[in-house]
Amino acid sequence: MKRNLVIVIVCAAGLSGLLWFKSQTVSDPSWEQPAMSSSARITLSGRFSTNRLKELRRQIDTALEESKRLVNIWDETTEISQFNRFNSTEPFPASAEFARLIRFALDFSVQTGGAFDPTVKPLVDHWGFGPKKNRDPLEEIMKAVGWQKVRLENGTLIKGHPRLQLDLAAIADGYGADCVAAVIRKNGCTGFLVEVGGELIAEGTKRSGKPWRVGIESPEPGKASGEKIFRTVELSGKALATSGDYRNFQTRDDGTRYSHIINPHTGKPSESDVASVTVITAQCIDADALATALCVMGSEKGFQWLDKHPEFQAFFILHAADGSFTSRFSTGFPLH
Ligand code: AMP
Ligand code: MG
Repeated sequence: MKRNLVIVIVCAAGLSGLLWFKSQTVSDPSWEQPAMSSSARITLSGRFSTNRLKELRRQIDTALEESKRLVNIWDETTEISQFNRFNSTEPFPASAEFARLIRFALDFSVQTGGAFDPTVKPLVDHWGFGPKKNRDPLEEIMKAVGWQKVRLENGTLIKGHPRLQLDLAAIADGYGADCVAAVIRKNGCTGFLVEVGGELIAEGTKRSGKPWRVGIESPEPGKASGEKIFRTVELSGKALATSGDYRNFQTRDDGTRYSHIINPHTGKPSESDVASVTVITAQCIDADALATALCVMGSEKGFQWLDKHPEFQAFFILHAADGSFTSRFSTGFPLH
């Protein structure tokens, strides 16, 4: 009798302990929060104590805030905005992380033959996609454009033209996603899906063991995010970024559209055959930069580039002459 009572008490204590533990833990948490110029969605696989999750979310907030403080051109107080206002060819002292980002951007400009170019900011303003309208004639603006006109020397940035300005929007979300993923990894999580402004990083699997699956949108203007999926991709241990002409564009008086992606060689909005391109590689910042560059290059030059860089895979959705879309992808692209 006594023994039975002990067993009942032990079981009751065990059960309430379990219930208490369950009430203090969260399974597969997923949340959305403001990030960069839009929002981030983070999904973790596994069970987390509320305290651990709170601390993780605090670290993620800090990482996103710090990355925004460097690269957001819509906020006058960020480091990039201070640099852009610095109307001088004297050295500008840059923070180590800002200098690292600029080094990355300039290296990527070299690698893509200038299809990617962080100095397009005055052109982005000119075509109505930036924070200010730049009404100067294109020939005048072009004098301050070109990645060769900015130098990094001993931690300082030097403008080759006083009106040179930088725009890192083409890598901001990818960079933000990398920063968030680094925080999550450091906290020992091995399964997660991070999305910042549509750019993604997936690691491990869902708790069920099923792979993360993400959609490539149909590049049709006017559709809400995720409304129409063109193809799906299984992603693990990789980053994915998409650029295209279907979400951020302006309409001319004659009804034709022009894209927010600028061809730095002409100074005009890109007019390639690419409606959208999705790039997969290890780091999200690389995927983000290349997706923008491939829109400028167009599919023919883009595939030539990809042949020489097998660490990148890409899926192109191309404009066909009849207004429909065709698609082409490089070897190894993990279409589902
Ligand atoms: P994404 O959506 O990642 O392709 O980035 C596009 C944004 O990057 C534009 O809205 C501009 O702010 C900027 N941008 C436009 N053209 C270029 C370019 N050729 N190289 C680098 N940044 C660009
Ligand atoms: Mg990009």
